[in-house]
Amino acid sequence: MLTINTFCQQLQTYLEPDQIQQVRRAYYFAEQAHDGQQRKSGEAYVLHPLSVAGILADMGIDHQSLQAAMLHDVIEDTEITKTALANQFGCTVANLVDGVSKLTHLEFKSHAESQAHNFQKMAIAMARDIRVILVKLADRLHNMRTIGVMRAESRCRIARETTDIYAPIASRLGMHKISVELEDLAFRAYYPMRHRYIKRAVETARGKHKALIEQVQQALVNCLAQENLFGTVTGREKHLASIYNKMKIQNKSFREIMDVFAFRITTDKVDTCYRILGAVHHLNLYRPVPGRFKDYIAIPKSNSYQSLHTTLYRVGSGVQTPIEIQIRTREMDAIANHGIAEHWLYKDDDSGRSAGTHSRARQWLQGLLEMQKQSGNALEFINHVKHDLFPDEEYVFTPKGEVLALPKGSTAVDFAYAVHTQIGNSCIACKINRRLAPLSQKLESGNTVEIITTTTAKPNMSWLSFIATAKASASIRHYLKNQVNRDSVNLGRRLLNQELGSINTSLEQIDPNQLQQYLERISIANLDDLLADIGLGKRMAYVCAHSLTKANNDTGQATNAPIAIHGTEGLLVKYSKCCNPLPGDSVVGHINSGHGIVVHRNLCKNLKELARQTDKTVSLTWAETTEGNFNVHLKVEVTANRGIIANLAASVAENDANIDQINVNEQDASLSVVNLGLNVHNRIHLARVMKSLRRLHGVIRLTRQ
Ligand code: MN
Repeated sequence: MLTINTFCQQLQTYLEPDQIQQVRRAYYFAEQAHDGQQRKSGEAYVLHPLSVAGILADMGIDHQSLQAAMLHDVIEDTEITKTALANQFGCTVANLVDGVSKLTHLEFKSHAESQAHNFQKMAIAMARDIRVILVKLADRLHNMRTIGVMRAESRCRIARETTDIYAPIASRLGMHKISVELEDLAFRAYYPMRHRYIKRAVETARGKHKALIEQVQQALVNCLAQENLFGTVTGREKHLASIYNKMKIQNKSFREIMDVFAFRITTDKVDTCYRILGAVHHLNLYRPVPGRFKDYIAIPKSNSYQSLHTTLYRVGSGVQTPIEIQIRTREMDAIANHGIAEHWLYKDDDSGRSAGTHSRARQWLQGLLEMQKQSGNALEFINHVKHDLFPDEEYVFTPKGEVLALPKGSTAVDFAYAVHTQIGNSCIACKINRRLAPLSQKLESGNTVEIITTTTAKPNMSWLSFIATAKASASIRHYLKNQVNRDSVNLGRRLLNQELGSINTSLEQIDPNQLQQYLERISIANLDDLLADIGLGKRMAYVCAHSLTKANNDTGQATNAPIAIHGTEGLLVKYSKCCNPLPGDSVVGHINSGHGIVVHRNLCKNLKELARQTDKTVSLTWAETTEGNFNVHLKVEVTANRGIIANLAASVAENDANIDQINVNEQDASLSVVNLGLNVHNRIHLARVMKSLRRLHGVIRLTRQ
């Protein structure tokens, strides 16, 4: 049985004494924390973390991962917190344990193909340190090895999760050995009868072929000896889950699959691999099967697997039993078995720091890319591997438990638009992990996101500053653009009605046929387009009104009734910056072609110039109640006395107005000019503010600009 002492002896083969001591300390800590807890089998709980560490040690993984393995269930199952672990074992180990606990919480609900795929990526994305995955895989492997004690129901659930999520992750990281064992254990847990049947059949077949297999193996060994090539020949066993899957998916018979002899030859150098290949291709009595040779040394698989594959058949024999041969170096063999984990075998100086580990994972990636570059293969491969290991995506849950992939930096607004445009357009708030959160908060893998909508909500222009997806951006822009269109139709309707009113008619009174003829004459599709054109200032309301009413335009003697400004016209009514009109001021509108109306005060200097284009001015008035805040500028001459600025500011605030700009020019020692930019509701509000400013001690003169 595995004990901490035998375990530490094993560690001496590749760890320093002080590192082994730290692993031992983590063991004792876990033993105490789990004191009194038992596994379902009745064993002391601590045997589980010890076995998990054992699996990792077999792969030669670093001491921090081993510590994390010892402690991996401590946060989850005991009172001990992450902070406590950080104090005892440092942040790196505490983060690893925390990462493993978070993965444990991932609830796997649906096993639809795409969902499983997203779960795999989510798990990898959640583990910022790839060692979290290694510990989690070892944890799962030990749980699968001891799954027999669980109830049938949970056995099936865990087995399915293993096949759908964890075995593929192991395979993605190139950890062939773990992936195969996970698959076989899951197969046994899920289909105990089929597993037993296939196992027995495999044993029988092996017994039957034993003599033949030994004969081929001997032929290969002799061949290497003859050619003076170094290499170890081993027989390869097919694992049960893969036999089952081949029968089920490829519809092959058990005999077809089993009547294949598989061998592996490992050697020292790449060069020798090719020479061995040459030798076996010229083996007496055997011939290579055309089209079955694969060179994965020159062109490695995406998980960095390298090997030469070839298939031989025996000439002249009645039975055509294919002989599959894999040829590779011992290093390639180790990478094929352990994948990413293999990189902890060759530790370097800074193996104690997490940055080092991460950069080693990256180095591994870099190595892959180098290999790929040498073999001159497609860029697609690089993207594929990089994306798989360090995804640029966050994976979040909908309230129903579906997984959604979003680019890094995405917010709840991106999420809302990803679910449905309508949800995005009507979203007003969100909950992240069941708590209210700002819409601009960046989402993280594993978050559950819920969007709160109302029918009156509208997309907000400010969202454009924090969203990350093209879909959200396009939808918001589309909505805002339509908003401009809706605004211009409304404004155009009012402008046209104003002109029609001056000739004693209105849009409703125009004969529809006459309207249709007019639209056709000026090649405009419909009334809304005409109104939008008028609203945008592309067409003159005056001209349209008179063209529409040609028959009775002699009666025009009524006055132009001005258009009322409500302050809610949106983007098409702007207030000029040169004279800052306020509700209550006498105003005139100037039509700015393509952009709507600009409101000026009657006495604006610029207006004299503009007013020459009479067809571009419209008379305006303010609606009884106008909404919004309006800018206004005041020039305040004050005696240079200390505290005067503070008094000005206080007085403005007392009257419910805002200062949005203030600057002071000193005229001389005794006089200063203060330029104040204010926000007020209307002319009366301004008058109140000015009155109270005038009363201040030190204010000499006050003028509106
Ligand atoms: Mn565990």
